[in-house]
Amino acid sequence: MKLLEIIKFSKEYLEKYSFSKSRLESEKVISSVLGIERINLYSNFEMELTTDEKLKIKKILLKMVKQNKDFDEVIKENKKIDEIPNGKDFKKENLILLRKSIGYLKKYKVPNARLDAEYIFSHVLKIKRNALMLNFNIEITEKDKDIIRKYMYRRGKRREPLQYILKEWEFYGYPMNVDERVLIPRSDTEILVEECIKLLASEKFPKILDIGTGSGAIAISLGKQVVQSEVLGVDISEGALEVANSNKEINLARNVEFLKSDLFENINYKSYDLVVSNPPYIPLEEYEGLMPEVKGYEPKGALTDEGDGYYFYKKITEESWDYLRKGGYLAFEVGYNQGEKVAQMMEKKGYEIIARVSDYGGIERAILGKKV
Ligand code: SAM
Ligand code: GLN
Repeated sequence: MKLLEIIKFSKEYLEKYSFSKSRLESEKVISSVLGIERINLYSNFEMELTTDEKLKIKKILLKMVKQNKDFDEVIKENKKIDEIPNGKDFKKENLILLRKSIGYLKKYKVPNARLDAEYIFSHVLKIKRNALMLNFNIEITEKDKDIIRKYMYRRGKRREPLQYILKEWEFYGYPMNVDERVLIPRSDTEILVEECIKLLASEKFPKILDIGTGSGAIAISLGKQVVQSEVLGVDISEGALEVANSNKEINLARNVEFLKSDLFENINYKSYDLVVSNPPYIPLEEYEGLMPEVKGYEPKGALTDEGDGYYFYKKITEESWDYLRKGGYLAFEVGYNQGEKVAQMMEKKGYEIIARVSDYGGIERAILGKKV
């Protein structure tokens, strides 16, 4: 039963027993049980009440009718009665703040408004997201409320990506620092990492090169997952390399190094076991239509080649040949409709295509080839 119906029901009940201010009285009862200010009741009119709350309301109404006393009097005389709530219920208040935050994000058409609001609350309150509801009966300080409001504004009105607000994001189970200098690592890219791990399972001391490493997400997760590997991540952006190095630190990835290089320019080693890349692949035409979070905040140079989307595939397919040992692998992430053309390009160069991998939605995500 929703709050509005409960108010109506309680009012009618008191009316039946000739209470003069039946609406006011029923509102007082309900607001005391729910711990919501009376003036805020109607902004929560769709709230579902728990059985326990409904029972409490019923008990107080019964008492009022039986004793023919209004709410204030009943409360005064029954201070010790357990069914009359005392003390503040923070959970209710916090739920209202959460609900308002979700509404605010929805107003600005933020996809997954609830999830994002929960992420922000759990980040600010330092409670794990899946344990948020269990630990929600805490007093949120005014300072934290201010931070929450500020974050909601950035996520809602300004449509800043959640990940830049939180400044951290998980990739392949590893924490990654992220800010506007790097592309936010996507869960889609975990497919590429997964495939590379499989490829290298039987290699003894694999050497891996990650072109366009950004936050270092691919390089670091491969470094952690592939035992005894040595990984080099390169990027043209100095800002990205700073972030990647901070991620090396927090993940204690000693076998991973980062280097500034325009593609293969500064790379000397020529016998890699794997060259992997998630290059900027969005065609300029499509870049214009991206979501405000992506277009407004993520580095343009990480997303688009400012051309047809194939520039980096061509260059890397061409040049990687000289940096791989015979039998080594080239692995790409591809955009939703690019797999076929990239596979053809690789075959033309002499690579044998060994896998084309789709995500759970059936979209082709990774192309893997072998230098034969
Ligand atoms: N590897 C990261 C990931 O998967 O989350 C980031 C990939 S992001 C799509 C592409 C990266 O390529 C960006 O960090 C960008 O700075 C870098 N990049 C762009 N042009 C480059 C070039 N000519 N040489 C090296 N890196 C380049
Ligand atoms: N997958 C990213 C996106 O669609 C693009 C990353 C890239 O260009 N490699 O937002």
